[in-house]
Amino acid sequence: MYKYLSGHMGINPQVASFVAEAEQELFGLFAKVDETAAVNQMKILNAMQNSRLSDSHFNDSTGYGYHDEGREVLEKIFAALFHAEAALVRPQLISGTHALAAALFGNLRPNDVLFSPVGKPYDTLESVIGIRPASGSLAEYGITYQQAELLENGDFDYEAIAEILKSQPKMVTIQRSKGYSWRKSFTVAEINDLIQCIRSRSPHTIILVDNCYGEFVATDEPIEADLLAGSLIKNPGGGIAAGGGYVVGKQKYVEASAERLTAPGLGSAVGPTLGMSRTLIQGLFLAPQTVSAAVKGAILAASVFGKLGFDVNPIVSAERSDIVQAIKLNNPENVLAFCRGIQKAAPVDSFVTPEPAPMPGYAHGVIMAGGTFIQGSSIELSADAPMRDPYIVYFQGGLTAPHSRAGVVFALQEMVREGRIKI
Ligand SMILES: *Cc1c(COP(=O)(O)O)cnc(C)c1O
Repeated sequence: MYKYLSGHMGINPQVASFVAEAEQELFGLFAKVDETAAVNQMKILNAMQNSRLSDSHFNDSTGYGYHDEGREVLEKIFAALFHAEAALVRPQLISGTHALAAALFGNLRPNDVLFSPVGKPYDTLESVIGIRPASGSLAEYGITYQQAELLENGDFDYEAIAEILKSQPKMVTIQRSKGYSWRKSFTVAEINDLIQCIRSRSPHTIILVDNCYGEFVATDEPIEADLLAGSLIKNPGGGIAAGGGYVVGKQKYVEASAERLTAPGLGSAVGPTLGMSRTLIQGLFLAPQTVSAAVKGAILAASVFGKLGFDVNPIVSAERSDIVQAIKLNNPENVLAFCRGIQKAAPVDSFVTPEPAPMPGYAHGVIMAGGTFIQGSSIELSADAPMRDPYIVYFQGGLTAPHSRAGVVFALQEMVREGRIKI
C-alpha cells in the first residue's frame, strides 16, 4: 500500500515511509483492537440471534409506523446489547444532540437541576442546556444547570461533586468522550466509579451518559447509567446507517424521552422506519469492524504526529474510550493544512477546500474536513477543529483501516507540502 501511495496520488515517498515505519511499531496494539472487535461482534451476533432477527424485519413501514416490526426488533437488539430495559432507536432522532435533548427534555421539569460532574459538555449541548442562550433551551423552561470542573490532571473532582450532590439534582449528565476539549475520554470503569458515587449520595438522580463516539471501542459500555444516548452516524451505525440516534436504559426514562421525541401520549408507539430498518440493523452488525478501523487510524495518527513533536491526546499506548484523536497543532495554518489533507483523502468531495465556518450549535468557527457518504458522518474519515487557541484538531473515523491510514498519510503529506513541517 505504501508503495502504491508513494508512486501515486502525489504522495511524497518520505511521507509514505514515515507513516509505514510508525505503523510497524503498532501491530501489538492493533491486535488488541482486533480482539475488542471480536468480542463486540459476538455480543451483537448474540443479541441479533436472541431477538430472532428475520428477513421479514427488513420490510418497510410508512405513516404512523404502528407495529413496525423492523423497528421493534432493532430496539430489542439495542436493549439486549446494552443490558437495558428499553431502547429508542429511530431515524427521527436526527443526531446525537437530538437524542440527548430528547432524554433531557423528556425527563426534566421546571425547577429541576441538571448537573454535569465532568466539566463543560459538548459544544452543541450548550444551547440545549442554555449555557449559551438559545430559544427553547432547558434554561427557558426553568431548569437550572450546575457543573463541577475536572481536576487539573483530568480526573473527577469528587469533593466538588459530593458538594453539589447534596442538593440531590434531578439529573446528571456524564460525557464519555472528550468532544472538543483537551481532556481524557473517560473509561467505562471510571464512569462506573462516578456513577457509584452519585448513587450513594443522591439515589434518586437520573444518570444519563452521553455515549457518543464511545460505542464498541471497549468490550463493555457504561451500562450502570439509567440512560445512554448516541448517534447512528457515529459508531453504532457502522457507517451504513443513513441517520438516526438512540436512547437506551430504564423503561420509564426511555419512554419519557420518546414522549418528547413524538408527542405526549404517543411516545414510542409511533415512528416509521421508512425503509431504513435493514441498513440500521446491518450497520450495527458492521459497527465493531468499522470502529476498530477508526481506532487503528487514531492510534496511527497519535504515533505519527507525536513523533513529529506535537502533543497528542490520548498518547499512543493509552487505553482508549472513544475513536477521537486530538492533536495540538499550535497554529491555524497547521490546522488548515491538516484538514486540507483529510479532505484530499476523501472519496466524496475530495476536490473542495474546507474552510472554517460558523456552525449551528457551535460558538466558534469550526473547520470540518471529510467527504463522507453520509452527510456529517464522523465514523467516516473526518477531522474537525474549532478555530480557537491552541488549535487542536480532532481526527476520527475511517470506514476501513486502510482508509483511516490513508487519512493520516494525506494529512501529513499536505503539512509537508505546504512547508509546515519537515520530516
Ligand atoms: C458528536 C457528539 C455529540 C452530538 O453531536 P451530533 O453532531 O449532534 O451527533 C454529543 N456529544 C459528543 C461527545 C459527541 O461526540
